[in-house]
Amino acid sequence: MFMDTKVGTLVENLRAWLASSERIAVLTGAGISTESGIPDFRSEHGVWQDEDLLAAMTDRHLREAPDDFWPKYKRTFLRPEYVAAQPNDGHGAIAQLERRGKDVTVITQNVDGLHQLAGSTRVLEVHGSARFARCPRCRSEYGLDHLLAHDIPRCTREDAKGAVCGAVLHPDTVLFGQPVRHFDEAIRAIHRSDLLLVIGTSLTVEPVASLPECAQRDRTRVVIVNLEITSFDARADLVIHAKAGEVLREAVR
Ligand code: NAD
Repeated sequence: MFMDTKVGTLVENLRAWLASSERIAVLTGAGISTESGIPDFRSEHGVWQDEDLLAAMTDRHLREAPDDFWPKYKRTFLRPEYVAAQPNDGHGAIAQLERRGKDVTVITQNVDGLHQLAGSTRVLEVHGSARFARCPRCRSEYGLDHLLAHDIPRCTREDAKGAVCGAVLHPDTVLFGQPVRHFDEAIRAIHRSDLLLVIGTSLTVEPVASLPECAQRDRTRVVIVNLEITSFDARADLVIHAKAGEVLREAVR
């Protein structure tokens, strides 16, 4: 139960809309994972405050200085506490909607893989995933174990003559300057949905920030769940300023 009755009433409203919606699109950002211990972009304690690290997260830097890129990439995306993070009630509630038979598409800006760990099966990772990397030459894929075991992870595949490929791997994460992925699919999912739920994103990173407008053009309801005000609050059908995990746990209970 919410101590704040106003929030409680808004959550009841969300609960009713979720129950009456068959196709639900969910757009998530870093805020849905803070309750799992992964800081969001703005958090004082987040590595994202370190401008030197962020400036190095480009594909150009990866190609020109892989020995410098990979340790910085790991300090940004693969800290032990991020790798060990588990889904929270927010991720769990979204997966639960799907288990109840709703047609749910998750569009996430996160690279932490927590929606899939919670059990969601249709997840569009528009900024890629930190959980794997691939060889730029032979496209072989490598998971977390390989990335964590090597300072500069390389392709270990052998050709028919036993020669090791050895190319430095490229992370699946979308680096600065690279285009977002699955964007057309995300727009299609929103077009066919009855409800767009926007959770834990400041809606400042384009082009994802413009997705709520696509829903509104179709007269699809837009619900925002975020701790602080977002640029779309004034136009949304329902806005709940509270913790995503608590709101979703109650709304899907
Ligand atoms: P952002 O940091 O700009 O915004 C996060 C929003 O979530 C903030 O407005 C904050 O008030 C809100 N928030 C924080 N905790 C919350 C909670 N418990 N409940 C509800 N709201 C909460 O994040 P963004 O919009 O996703 O953009 C940041 C970029 O950084 C994205 O591109 C993302 O890929 C990347 N990023 C990813 C991760 C991750 O994978 N977990 C973490 C940090 C940053």
